[in-house]
Amino acid sequence: MQLDNNVVIAGAGQAAATAAAELRRAGHAGAIVIVGDEAHAPYERPQLSKAMLKPGAAPARHIRDVAAFAADGIELRLGRRVQAVDAAARHVELDDGSTLPWSRLLIATGVRPRRLPGAMDVPGRVRYLRSLEDAAHLARDFDEGHALAIVGGGVIGLEVAAAAAARGIAVTLVEAADRLMPRSIDAPVSAALARIHAARGVDIRLGCQAVALHDDGSVELSDGSRVPGARVLVGIGVEPNIEAFAGLGISDALGIRVDACGRTAIEGIYAAGDVASQPLAAGHGRIETWANAQDHAVAVARNLIGEPVAYTAPTWFWSDQGGTNLQVLGDATQGTRVVRGDEGSDRFSVFRLDDAGRISGCTTLNNPKDMAMARRWMRQATRLEPSKLADPATNLSDCQS
Ligand code: FAD
Ligand code: NDP
Repeated sequence: MQLDNNVVIAGAGQAAATAAAELRRAGHAGAIVIVGDEAHAPYERPQLSKAMLKPGAAPARHIRDVAAFAADGIELRLGRRVQAVDAAARHVELDDGSTLPWSRLLIATGVRPRRLPGAMDVPGRVRYLRSLEDAAHLARDFDEGHALAIVGGGVIGLEVAAAAAARGIAVTLVEAADRLMPRSIDAPVSAALARIHAARGVDIRLGCQAVALHDDGSVELSDGSRVPGARVLVGIGVEPNIEAFAGLGISDALGIRVDACGRTAIEGIYAAGDVASQPLAAGHGRIETWANAQDHAVAVARNLIGEPVAYTAPTWFWSDQGGTNLQVLGDATQGTRVVRGDEGSDRFSVFRLDDAGRISGCTTLNNPKDMAMARRWMRQATRLEPSKLADPATNLSDCQS
């Protein structure tokens, strides 16, 4: 190992695997060691709430197999946890007592599900969804036909609701807010999603929470009703995996605080992916998406080897909820609202424009082509004519002002 030129990556998820590959692609010749506390080679998580919950699902796909990492000279230390960092000595301490020196440290430890309060967090009855094992437990619940009470009407809750309903499982979904996915989509799109899920048989209770698990197997809700014989799936958001880096002075309340180049306040230490608290239009925040785990990791890897690249990509994610493809770009809750298509249907787009007529956000329901165009318009700062955009008879390519 070249001690003056070695990179240690804490965490072995999507951002870690992507950054390591990018380091090699960019010509980094020194050692790269990825330390991950899961037993598996890095894998992408979207399959956990989609493909893996289908009946007779194929085995999980990994980003690359272990041999491919080895062929690239990337060492995987799996089933090992980084538990502390000595920034002065420039090494990490692992949970087996060993230390690993680094000249550059990339923190890519992701996030973990926020849990229900203690008395509600009953093992075997309450499920979370972050890992391959979690998905396997849930798939087994589906095979056994247990009713499902879902706590949280965010992306996890809605994707699992769709997967369960498609298998004929009775699903009750409780969301504490007065609408679904309140942080990333606007109220009319929330209403459309609620209508689509209800039509598939999902019993959606808004402004509601799970308050008790009873010995008879039922789940008591805050509206006074009970869901009998139910497993509970919790999707109420996440918290960052930052304990190993406490005391370094590089975290804020949301994660590891970085600048636009992925640098922390300590020279030589970087962060990428879900765990990074990044500069946003207003303040700092986490971006918990597949695209960010990919593109942020690439940009930060470049910075790690001395090529200054500012990461400025807008937030974009998709969510497959049964037969419904939802995509969200930028801030889809603010700006001039232009609807293309019928909001009462299962297929329409909502564009958000700034004062100059440029795209500042977009939501599409079963309209991936509109989203592809919105992303291009955003990149190119194209000015649009709202009346043309709202008219489905006008080609998207003719909507410029
Ligand atoms: P992770 O993939 O979480 O990897 C971090 C790894 O670090 C984990 O293996 C963790 O166990 C490990 N680790 C933590 N602490 C330590 C430590 N101290 N030492 C060693 N290892 C450690 N995004 C979309 O845009 N579209 C989707 O459809 C979509 N679907 C999703 C479905 C599910 C069920 C989930 C959970 C997420 C989904 N996402 C989706 C989000 C996307 O998967 C994440 O944004 C992405 O996985 C983040 O990658 P990451 O590498 O930052 O973190
Ligand atoms: P989200 O933050 O997306 O959604 C959680 C939802 O649960 C919010 O609407 C939240 O409301 C609500 N909530 C919070 N507490 C309660 C409660 N006690 N009772 C009822 N509802 C409550 O998190 P998820 O758990 O859905 O997703 C976790 C992670 O997985 C995220 O990182 C996400 O990006 C990732 N993921 C991404 C997917 C995608 O992009 N397609 C798919 C699946 C997962 P409030 O906002 O008011 O707190």
